[in-house]
Amino acid sequence: MRLIDLRSDTVTRPSEGMRQAMLHAELGDDVFGEDPTVNLLEERMAAMFGHEAALFCPSGTMTNQIAINVHTRPGDEVLCEEGAHVYRYEGGGMMANSGCSVKHLPADRGRFTSESVIAAVNDRSAAYLANSRLVVVENTVNRGGGAIWDHAGVARIRKMCDAHGLLLHLDGARIFNAMAVDGIAPTEWGKHFHSISVCLSKGLGAPVGSVLIGSSAFIHQARRVRKRFGGGMRQAGVLAAAGLFALEHNIKRLTEDHARARRIGEALSGKAWCAHVMPVDTNIVIYDLTHDAKSHVEKLAAYGIRCFAIGPRQVRMVTHLDVDDASMEQVINALESISS
Ligand SMILES: *Cc1c(COP(=O)(O)O)cnc(C)c1O
Repeated sequence: MRLIDLRSDTVTRPSEGMRQAMLHAELGDDVFGEDPTVNLLEERMAAMFGHEAALFCPSGTMTNQIAINVHTRPGDEVLCEEGAHVYRYEGGGMMANSGCSVKHLPADRGRFTSESVIAAVNDRSAAYLANSRLVVVENTVNRGGGAIWDHAGVARIRKMCDAHGLLLHLDGARIFNAMAVDGIAPTEWGKHFHSISVCLSKGLGAPVGSVLIGSSAFIHQARRVRKRFGGGMRQAGVLAAAGLFALEHNIKRLTEDHARARRIGEALSGKAWCAHVMPVDTNIVIYDLTHDAKSHVEKLAAYGIRCFAIGPRQVRMVTHLDVDDASMEQVINALESISS
């Protein structure tokens, strides 16, 4: 029996080709700006999203936290959805690192509207209110079951941000999954945001790394904050080479992950023990059980399938580079075999 890990798309191991690229990467000291492989990755990502500059970082948490730190001052307020990674899964970072307060926007699977942004902005003439400063959009939405944002809706949000003196950050940990479905060009997404965080270590299959993208002035500041946060790496080209390899080889194939996730969603929807499956838009499947999620996760583990209980009755499965069609047979068989 093979072990199939559907807990996250972060569990992938670098492929042989990726390891070769890492092995042969040209290196220098990146804190001195002298690592040619890091520089190439940063230039390529900035150009791809139509921005001036980019910054390679150890994690998506760091790229998000740096962006929040550069965009805000202590006491400012950040507007985001309740399940947003920046709020929920970054160790309280925006409060601890940047001294920001947070206002949650009502949302549909993590996606909010320009109207809800306007309704949430504090009156700037009132000295007793926090200064609403930054809006964070997550695309695709992790807690929303990989939901994709409507491009026109994001354009409206940006317009509202401009009208109300707000900045707009994209947590694009899985933006390539979104683009694989909606076909919208990275420059089209890029133009709506003051900053963008993209993960190389999720669906793209690199072992480590995220990239923060924005204007030259923004990245100049971000570079200082990265150092302050302890994220200045030296011969980081070993890791950047994996990112460059991922950009070249692992974007087109994301649609395979999506097809496999849809298959899991279809298998789940007929089961008596499954109360609800969120629509499967990309590579994330979130479903509710009629009973306790922990025992369900244990049952699947006996079939070699690992997944996550993300709530008392809610489970998440994520497809990725290391899940092939043979693995899928095992997953479907397991779902057919269990009775709860
Ligand atoms: C994974 C993820 C991140 C970054 O996580 P790291 O593990 O710190 O790289 C950021 N946002 C979302 C939505 C994510 O899923």
